[in-house]
Amino acid sequence: MNDLFARHRSVLPDWLALYYEDPLEITHGEGRYVWDAEGNKYLDFFGGILTTMTAHALPEVTKAVSEQAGRIIHSSTLYLNRPMVELAERISQLSGIPDARVFFTTSGTEANDTALLLATTYRRSNTILAMRNSYHGRSFSAVGITGNRGWSPTSLSPLQTLYVHGGVRTRGPYAELSDDDFIAACVEDLKDLLGHTRPPAALIAEPIQGVGGFTSPPDGLYAAFREVLAERGILWIADEVQTGWGRTGDNFWGWQAHGQHGPPDILTFAKGIGNGMSIGGVVARAEIMNCLDANSISTFGGTQITMAAGLANLSYLLEHDLQGNARRVGGLLIERLRGVAAQVPGVREVRGRGLMLGIELVKPGTDQADPDAASAVLESCRADGLLIGKGGGHNTSALRVAPPLSLTVAEAEEGAAILENALRSIQ
Ligand code: PMP
Repeated sequence: MNDLFARHRSVLPDWLALYYEDPLEITHGEGRYVWDAEGNKYLDFFGGILTTMTAHALPEVTKAVSEQAGRIIHSSTLYLNRPMVELAERISQLSGIPDARVFFTTSGTEANDTALLLATTYRRSNTILAMRNSYHGRSFSAVGITGNRGWSPTSLSPLQTLYVHGGVRTRGPYAELSDDDFIAACVEDLKDLLGHTRPPAALIAEPIQGVGGFTSPPDGLYAAFREVLAERGILWIADEVQTGWGRTGDNFWGWQAHGQHGPPDILTFAKGIGNGMSIGGVVARAEIMNCLDANSISTFGGTQITMAAGLANLSYLLEHDLQGNARRVGGLLIERLRGVAAQVPGVREVRGRGLMLGIELVKPGTDQADPDAASAVLESCRADGLLIGKGGGHNTSALRVAPPLSLTVAEAEEGAAILENALRSIQ
């Protein structure tokens, strides 16, 4: 055990999930690469979904953050805050939600918590529909709507949560149906559930499940759900913490693959928008956002320094069309990985879109999840200079690929070659 790992173990909780048998200490990064404390260089195929939407140490963000740090960081809400207003204006306009209001938090968890506060208050119901296998954060309320039991340490909750089929298809009850029949079966299931419960406040869903393994429901699933929900006044909360900002290539938001009946009522975001600075937030139309009749503030949500980072990062993303880049480079990557999958029996499927790709591993010749293989591929990639992620349900048998959105074709090829080598070696 390396020295820092030993110290980590002695002062931090056991339940902090750490990657790798010999955990990595990342000390610096540039572009799509990071370096560890021993000077080893890695191509980062996972940091994009965690912290780094555009690129590591993006000079535009570094400059904005250091300039703001030298100027002022004060209460984000008690006084007027120019960068917060400017970022809210941009996000409100990009969200697709009419007459949108934005509230900034410091994490995705707190964003979802706020969305639950809004939905339950607005609807006067504490019943929430959530997707099986979902992940929405780590607070008491967020774990109460997290269907992925490996990430939900308590069954006690301030909410009554009902879980819905559809977010994950692999090995689900309707896995073998066509897209249309799959959607129809999930809608019937939802209607059946709604027939036996008090009116819920909202359905919360990740358009593509992140922690759950980048599972991809057929396009239009949430539009079909939306129709059923809207008839009953039930709100739709899209958790875009992983799917937002163009990551899926085809769309700016994940919900747009399901947008036939319009935007969600509430949208939550977090992770890479600050390129590492802690920005989360909720967007909702004014009627919903303003349903709270008591004061509320956040000391650190929306601080000038995080907002400066968000503005610089978002500008870079839009000016360099990183959504288009995600579509183009992600398209090449998925094609290449599907070619490998066809030749490696332990790869069940390669799924996702843009730069959000999941690779589901099974024991060859069976449909059984293979978490050991996923760990082995992760270790092998690391040894060859590539960082990737893992995910899935009870068994983390999916690999996750989510680089910063500025990934180049040459870097995609470099990473794909390492990944291909690792996948071939597990057979
Ligand atoms: N929602 C989703 C979809 C997430 O993936 C995550 C984080 N993995 C969260 C919410 C919680 O975000 P945070 O870790 O910033 O609290």
